[in-house]
Amino acid sequence: MTASPGRRRVLLAAPRGYCAGVDRAVIAVEKALEQYGAPVYVRHEIVHNKYVVQTLERKGAVFVERTEEVPPGNIVMFSAHGVAPVVHEEAARGRLATIDATCPLVTKVHKEAVRFAQEDYDILLIGHEGHEEVIGTSGEAPDHIQLVDGPEDVAKVEVRDPSKIVWLSQTTLSVDETMETVDALKEKFPQLISPPSDDICYATQNRQLAVKQMGAEAELVIVVGSRNSSNSKRLVEVAKLAGSREAYLVDFASEIDEAWLEGVTTVGVTSGASVPEVLVEEVLAWLTERGYGDVELVKAAEEHITFSLPKELRRDLREEAAALAAGRGGSGAPSAAGASGAVDDGPAKA
Ligand code: SF4
Repeated sequence: MTASPGRRRVLLAAPRGYCAGVDRAVIAVEKALEQYGAPVYVRHEIVHNKYVVQTLERKGAVFVERTEEVPPGNIVMFSAHGVAPVVHEEAARGRLATIDATCPLVTKVHKEAVRFAQEDYDILLIGHEGHEEVIGTSGEAPDHIQLVDGPEDVAKVEVRDPSKIVWLSQTTLSVDETMETVDALKEKFPQLISPPSDDICYATQNRQLAVKQMGAEAELVIVVGSRNSSNSKRLVEVAKLAGSREAYLVDFASEIDEAWLEGVTTVGVTSGASVPEVLVEEVLAWLTERGYGDVELVKAAEEHITFSLPKELRRDLREEAAALAAGRGGSGAPSAAGASGAVDDGPAKA
């Protein structure tokens, strides 16, 4: 994979872009609009990508920050990042029919949190303060969970019983940084136990692996992704740690600065898990116009995971929402009130 001097090329990461959870969430919004008509309300950005959100808005999705903003008798969808049980209760109070597009791999972490809380463990949740996924997971067991936002947070962690603690994590963290935090926690609490399986999801891990492989050769890495996308931001960090001189996050090709190419022979290109391929194609076209038309694939893993759509899409939610607004309760089960903790059909391997 060594470039001859002066030969400009692009290393294109594989896998990159959409993961199974994002794909499912975006299709769920499209299906809901098709089946029930606009508007379909979505609490928070369905996935953290500006282009995806703007495209769905044009089709009739209405994004809101708070459940209370949705008028009674409507349909509200919860994003791939997951929500706390209290949000399902808000929807029930607001007489809303709900669709839960939480990624099944986030739901898995919610269930772990509930189980360890039931067993009265102190749960140390490694994640970024204020991130929607962390808020949702913490809300499953607020009395048992405390957030650990990196190794520097470890000093202030206090637990009730050092022999009964477990760590869990946000799904989209840097694998290496998370292990640094875990090591620091284990030094302080040698009896700390680990989650039964990886919480950092397959998509996050595979995208980081591909970037690590290209980072040593690419002087510049361009990550396509939005600034509020945790997994995209991690790719920038991973690229730099892997040896890339510069790494930048861009939403669109138009944000690339020509000056970044100065003295650069090899450009790495990848995209976060919430990024549609069309945006990567635009970046590749932009690079081709500037002499970087030679593209080599850096393949770190094969992905074949798909998730089935949220099961609520099988019901007549408009009728359900109208019944809720009229105070008659929903016709389908569960009602918005009963949806708390609802899980989807789970992962299916394609
Ligand atoms: S990044 Fe991972 S956890 Fe998040 S939606 Fe995609 S598959 Fe699910």
